[in-house]
Amino acid sequence: MSVIQGAPRGVIPGHLLKGQKALVTGANSGIGKATAIGLGRAGADVVVNYVAGRGEAEQVVEEISGFGVRAMAYEADVSQEDQVVAMIERMVQEFGTIDILVANAGLQRDAPFTEMTTAQWQKVLDVNLTGQFLCAREATKEFLRRGVVPEVSHAAGKIICMSSVHQLIPWAGHVNYAASKGGVQMMMETLAQELAPHRIRVNAIAPGAIRTPINRSAWDTPDAEKDLLQLIPYRRVGDPEDIAHAVVGLASDLMDYVVGTTLYVDGGMTLFPGFATGG
Ligand code: NAD
Repeated sequence: MSVIQGAPRGVIPGHLLKGQKALVTGANSGIGKATAIGLGRAGADVVVNYVAGRGEAEQVVEEISGFGVRAMAYEADVSQEDQVVAMIERMVQEFGTIDILVANAGLQRDAPFTEMTTAQWQKVLDVNLTGQFLCAREATKEFLRRGVVPEVSHAAGKIICMSSVHQLIPWAGHVNYAASKGGVQMMMETLAQELAPHRIRVNAIAPGAIRTPINRSAWDTPDAEKDLLQLIPYRRVGDPEDIAHAVVGLASDLMDYVVGTTLYVDGGMTLFPGFATGG
C-alpha cells in the first residue's frame, strides 16, 4: 500500500465559489493562509485579514491574485469591535458584499491552572470567542440586508467558525483555550438555530493536529511527532490544506443542507484512540 504523506493537492474545483466574496481572519499564517488561498483557487474574491505581519498578508494576496480573482489585505484585531465593524464596512465598499466568513483567528496562552493569569485567560477568550462573535455579527448584518442572490449561492451567507477538537477533548494546561473552543461550539449552534430561517448557514470545523506555528513544539522534532501520531489513528499530522479543503466544501452549495454541524477534520483524533487496544 502506498502511503500518502500529506494532504492531497490539486483537488479544489476552480469555479465552485465563483463570484462569492469571502473574509478569512488570521489569514497570513497556518490554517487561515491555506484557507484564503483555497477559497481564491475555488473562484472567490478574498479579504485576507491579519493583525501583524503585513508582508505575509501581501504574499497571500499575491498568490490569490494569481487565480484571476480579487484579493485585499486588511489589518484588524478581531477582538476590537470598532476594527471589526470598519473591516466589514470596507469589504462591502470594495467587494460589494460578503458571502462567506471564516472566523479563523485564534491563539494560545498556555499555563498550569494556578499559574494562569487573568490576562492570559482574558486574551484567549477575547480573540478566540469574542472575536468570532464580533465578525459573525457584522457579517450577518450584511447577509440579512442583501438576502439570497440565487445566481451566487442558495444561501444568504455562510459562517464557518474555526473551532478545535478541544471543544470536545479536555486539555490540561490550556483551560483558557479549551473554554474558548467550548464556547465557540455553543455560539455556533445557537447562531445556526437563530439564523437558519434567514437562509444563513453557520457551521464549524474542528481541526485536530495541524502543522502550523501555533503548535510547532508538538511536531517539530521526530520524538514529538512520534508521540503526537499515537493520538491520530490515520497516522499523519494534518496539513493546513486539509482544513482549507473542508472550508471550501462547507462554504459551497454542495453542502447547502449542512447547518449547525461541527466537521471534525482530525485523522480520527476524537475516536478515543487509546481504546483501540485497551478498555
Ligand atoms: P497560526 O498561529 O498559524 O494562525 C493564527 C492566526 O490568527 C495568525 O495569523 C494570527 O496573527 C491571527 N491572530 C491572532 N490574534 C488575532 C487577532 N486579535 N486579530 C486577528 N488575527 C489574529 O495558527 P493556526 O494553527 O493556523 O490557527 C488557526 C485557527 O485554527 C485557530 O483558531 C486555532 O485555534 C485553530 N486550530 C488550530 C489547530 C492546529 O493544530 N494548528 C488545531 C485546532 C484548531
